[in-house]
Amino acid sequence: MKIPYLDLQAQYQSIKSEIDSAIADIFANNAFVLGKAVADFESDFASYCQTDYCVGLNSGTSALTLALRALDIGPGDEVITAANTFIATAAAIAHTGATPKLVDVDPADRNISVDQIEQAIGKKTRAIIPVHLYGRPAKMNEIMAIAERHGLPVIEDAAQAHGADYFGKRAGSIGKIACFSFYPGKNLGAAGEAGAVVTDDNELDRKIRMLRDHGSEKRYHHDLLGYNARMEGIQGAVLGVKLKHLDSWTESRIRIAQMYNDLLATLPLDLPLIEKDVRSVFHLYVIASDQRDELQAYLAEKSVPSLIHYPIPIHLQPAFGYLGCKAGDFPVSEQLGQRILSLPIFPELKDEQVEYVASQIRGFFG
Ligand SMILES: *Cc1c(COP(=O)(O)O)cnc(C)c1O
Repeated sequence: MKIPYLDLQAQYQSIKSEIDSAIADIFANNAFVLGKAVADFESDFASYCQTDYCVGLNSGTSALTLALRALDIGPGDEVITAANTFIATAAAIAHTGATPKLVDVDPADRNISVDQIEQAIGKKTRAIIPVHLYGRPAKMNEIMAIAERHGLPVIEDAAQAHGADYFGKRAGSIGKIACFSFYPGKNLGAAGEAGAVVTDDNELDRKIRMLRDHGSEKRYHHDLLGYNARMEGIQGAVLGVKLKHLDSWTESRIRIAQMYNDLLATLPLDLPLIEKDVRSVFHLYVIASDQRDELQAYLAEKSVPSLIHYPIPIHLQPAFGYLGCKAGDFPVSEQLGQRILSLPIFPELKDEQVEYVASQIRGFFG
C-alpha cells in the first residue's frame, strides 16, 4: 500500500469546480491584491474565529511580525515563547529587535509550561506567545491569568490550530490577538503563501491594516514604517471556498487521530491526548518513542512516510546561538526532539491507510 504523508491533490479534486471558478473571478476582476475576495474572507474568518476583526496577510510569519509591531514591541523588549515551536515564532520576535525569551514545554500536551512562564517574566517582558502546537490549544486559562496579573498581552500563535476549541472558546479568540498561517499544508491552506491576524481590538486591527500596506491608510501617505504584507486576491478566493469545508475536514482529522490512538493504545508509545474541553484539530498526529529513529527507518522501508516536528528546538538552532543557551537548558523540548514522530494525517486519508500505518507500527514492536 502506498501512503502519502500529505495529499493536497485529493482535496483539490474534491472541490475543483468551486476553486477554479473562484480563481477565474480574480482574473476577470483584476483583483490580484486585497480586493473583494480578501475582504469577504476576512469577514468570514473573523466570524469563524469568534472575533470582531481579521486582517489578511501574506504569511503567518508576517502575522506574528505585524502583531508584535502593532503592540510597539521592539529593541530592548523580551517576548516569552516555547522552545519547541516552528522557527517563525522566534524569528518574528527577533526581527522586531526584541529578544525571544524561551521556556520549556510540558511532556503531556507538548505545549508551553505555565510554571516556567511565570519564572521567565522579568522587567523587560512585553508579551507572551503561546503556540497551539500540532493544533492543540495551549493551557490558555492559566496563561491568561498570568498575563493579566502581569499586565502582558497574549499573542496566540494559532498557525496550526484553525478551528480548535478551548473550554468552549475558539483558538484565536482568547488572547489579545492571534496569528494564523494558511501555508498550503496547514489545516486551512491557500494556493501559495498567506496568513492573517484576528483580534477584537479595533485599534490593533487598524494598525495592522496600515502596517501590511507600507504604513498607509491613504494612498502615498505613510504614517507608520510598514511592510508589503498584503494578502493576494487568489489566496482570499481559495481560502473563502475552503473555509466552508474546514469543519468537515477537521472532523475527519479528529476521527483519524482517534483511530490511531485506539490502534496504537497497547504499544510502548506516547500518544497525543484527545480531550473534549481542549479540542485539538490535529494539524499533526505526533507520537513519541525511545526508538524513534529505528521506528522511522522501519516505516520508511514499508512505504510509510513520517516527519519530525521539530528535530532541533529553537535554543539549539545556530540562528539563535546569540541567545547563549546550551544543551540541557530546555530538557523536555530536547527530549521531544529525539523522540517525536509525525504520522500521515489529512482529511482524505482512508481508514485502510490508517490501519496499514498502525499495523506496520505494531509490526515494528513485534
Ligand atoms: C507555519 C507556522 C508559522 C509560520 O507561518 P508561515 O505562513 O509559514 O509564515 C508560524 N508558527 C507556527 C507554529 C507555524 O506552524
